Amino acid sequence: MRRDEVDRSKLSPMMLQYMDIKDNYEDTIIFFRLGDFYEMFFDDAVLVSRELELTLTGKQAGLEERVPMCGIPHHAYANYIDQLIERGYKVAICEQMEDPKTTKGMVKREVIQVVTRGTRLDDRVDSKSNNYISNIYDFSYCYGISYTDISTGEFYAVIVDKDEHSVIREVVRNSFKEVIVNSKIDRNLVNTLRSNYNVLVTITDDLCEEDIYSYIYSNEEDTRIITTIKHLLKYIVDTKKTTLTHLQKVEVIKENSHLIFDGNTKKNLELTETIRTGDRMYSLLWFLDKNKTAMGSRFLKYNIENPITSKKELERRYDLIEKLSTEFILRDDLMKELNEVYDLERLAGRVSYGNLNAKDLLQLKNSLKHLPNIKKILEELNYDKTLETLDDVYELLESSINEDAPFTVHEGRLIKDGYNSELDELRSVKNGSKDFILTLEKEEKERTGIKNLKVGYNKVFGYYIEVSKSNKDLVKDEWGWDRKQTLANCERYTTPLLKEKENIILGAEEKIINLEYKLFMDIREVVKRYISNLQTISKIISEIDMLQSFSVISDDNKLVRPTLTEERKIEFIECRHPVVEKVMKDKYIPNDIVMDEKTNILLITGPNMAGKSTYMRQCAITIIMAQIGCFVPCKSAIMPIFDKIFTRIGASDDLVSGESTFMVEMKEAEYAISEATEDSLILFDELGRGTATYDGMALAQAILEHIHNKIKAKTMFSTHYHELVSLDKKLKNLENVHVSALEEDGHITFLHKVKKGAVDKSYGIHVASLAGLPNSVIDRSKEILSKYENNSKKREKENNSFEQTSLFDSFEPIVKESKIEKELEKINPIEMTPMEAINFLYNLKEEMKKDK
Ligand code: ADP
Repeated sequence: MRRDEVDRSKLSPMMLQYMDIKDNYEDTIIFFRLGDFYEMFFDDAVLVSRELELTLTGKQAGLEERVPMCGIPHHAYANYIDQLIERGYKVAICEQMEDPKTTKGMVKREVIQVVTRGTRLDDRVDSKSNNYISNIYDFSYCYGISYTDISTGEFYAVIVDKDEHSVIREVVRNSFKEVIVNSKIDRNLVNTLRSNYNVLVTITDDLCEEDIYSYIYSNEEDTRIITTIKHLLKYIVDTKKTTLTHLQKVEVIKENSHLIFDGNTKKNLELTETIRTGDRMYSLLWFLDKNKTAMGSRFLKYNIENPITSKKELERRYDLIEKLSTEFILRDDLMKELNEVYDLERLAGRVSYGNLNAKDLLQLKNSLKHLPNIKKILEELNYDKTLETLDDVYELLESSINEDAPFTVHEGRLIKDGYNSELDELRSVKNGSKDFILTLEKEEKERTGIKNLKVGYNKVFGYYIEVSKSNKDLVKDEWGWDRKQTLANCERYTTPLLKEKENIILGAEEKIINLEYKLFMDIREVVKRYISNLQTISKIISEIDMLQSFSVISDDNKLVRPTLTEERKIEFIECRHPVVEKVMKDKYIPNDIVMDEKTNILLITGPNMAGKSTYMRQCAITIIMAQIGCFVPCKSAIMPIFDKIFTRIGASDDLVSGESTFMVEMKEAEYAISEATEDSLILFDELGRGTATYDGMALAQAILEHIHNKIKAKTMFSTHYHELVSLDKKLKNLENVHVSALEEDGHITFLHKVKKGAVDKSYGIHVASLAGLPNSVIDRSKEILSKYENNSKKREKENNSFEQTSLFDSFEPIVKESKIEKELEKINPIEMTPMEAINFLYNLKEEMKKDK
């Protein structure tokens, strides 16, 4: 039974209440609190029971049929919500707002918050990554994008061109998992975000006009930025349903302030996770992260995703790294201090939205305790920002919060003795009465002569005097004891005095719990006033933590300070790929990457597996490291500041989009060519290999000519097409390099050494043999190759008599390509299983028979 088929006039009052609430949350699963359970009804119940494998039951709700229902115990809800959010659903938690025991009629219920991917605030969110909620506002001629991490309050905004590439670039670079869009937006873009990038998309046009949030954009004049922020804010305020005072002033990302690259580049260069496993381990982030705090790790990740272009700021960071490396004893002290600092930024967030307990305040206190020492170290390092130490807050927390306070705030034991006189008094009354009871046992024993008399307490009967059955008769009426409970072997009594003390104790206990809660809330309110100070402190701590991490890594891995030059030249001497080197250790072969002012293109040839793409990747990674303010993996390094990086490396696995690899490859090439400037870096790994040889070769050359003549970006271009190497004669800013390999007795050894000039031999067959293709296939390939080579030579002789009009004329197909050759062209021996190879050979032979 579906919700929209129901005759509401017949529904029970509770189900009617459910329907009214659900009407406002059509696209959200409602967890409807009923006693100790959260229940789901109708389509929600069917969906959740399927997703979480829960039993689907039914509930009588006044209709003929029972309403589909499934439920979960209220205390276990977090786990279920987690699973639903991971699968891209939104969950609204609908609570009972009144105590059912004291309420006549139906209990009031309200949605207290909506939990979504981008707005979740639980402990399961990775502490070393930001979790952004973002929006895309379509202004017809451009897009406004803003994003914030609700746990830390950081807020960013940017205006990008009205093209899909720019939007996707932002989404992938910052790993947005949830995006709010306005209804004007192109539905194709929404579909692409949903299906190709697994983004949860909500369409709404509402803007937040609440004044309390206007400080976020008060410094901005651009109305596009303001509208974009209001659009995102509305969604956040509606889902969190609480005031979020920790949201920070927006930082607008200005054009040209960052080194720009798209999601493919982030993926290809394995900046934050590896291609193969998607793990952080063996990514650049993993290599660089020796941070002591989660704030530092997050800041590092943000920097890797958003390197900068300001020479002044980069030099400032290099200076600090240098200083930290020279003053390594101070650096050690700093590391020890940072180790003790908790995630102040997320703690500040929790102060703001309210779910903060005494343990959090203790973490805050213990972190603040280390700030004076950190401040001193920073001063000795001539660090250029002043760290506030918030001594008053420290003193307040130190004097008030109990060291072993519990997680809950309703059980007392939160506040130290000596902090509040009223509390001290209540405690002494309570303890005095407790002492009285303890001594009572002794006194009564003596007074009554009953040796095994005991004073005890239980929750139902309170305090009692217990006398064993055998001594029961010794109890005298004139003592005025009241019999309370008879057990098998003893009798329990109470006395007026005991009752009086019990009332004092229990009364004091309740008052203590209430007073402690109030005091705790007051302390929290005080801390709340310091949220923005805490955020400023967090920024300094994250930066200095990241820089100490860079300094340590530079020392451990022999990184050097790069020289940033105004000239358009790259001179990376003995450059390494830091991650590959870390894994291979001494076996890694360093290579120079040199492109002087006159050289814009390096054409890289060499056999498969020689190290061409690693060579290209290490160039881009060196540049990115330099532009996050880190030292670089070279013996010496000179480079200009780059504005954009484009890469086309490795096989594309964009299978979801349904486009062929070649199409994707060409689209990426188009993107690079249309966006690159002479300050950009382009890496093209075997561009054009996805199509027939001559097709691919022609495209590769045309693209090279275009980059050479029009764009003039620094470009590294690896190729299989050895015919392209003669381009250096025609294109004066192109230089050949090759990665050498030794071939001996039909075996090949990779030297991974890049040398000037071109290589003129393909080693494909040897690599295929190394890969274990059957000997019969290898031998046959050698036979075919030598036939080609002979034909080619013959043809060259014939052609020598003609004037050479274009480069390609020299390698025009000599014979009309036969069907067999075409088939051979299509296969990639490395990707074939032995069985496929045999079948392929068999079919070739069959073809040959047909041709004869
Ligand atoms: P290509 O792009 O030429 O096919 P790759 O760059 O993928 O080759 O490198 C192939 C293998 O060689 C990689 O697995 C890498 O570990 C190793 N390699 C690459 N460059 C070096 C180097 N400079 N020193 C040592 N090993 C290297």
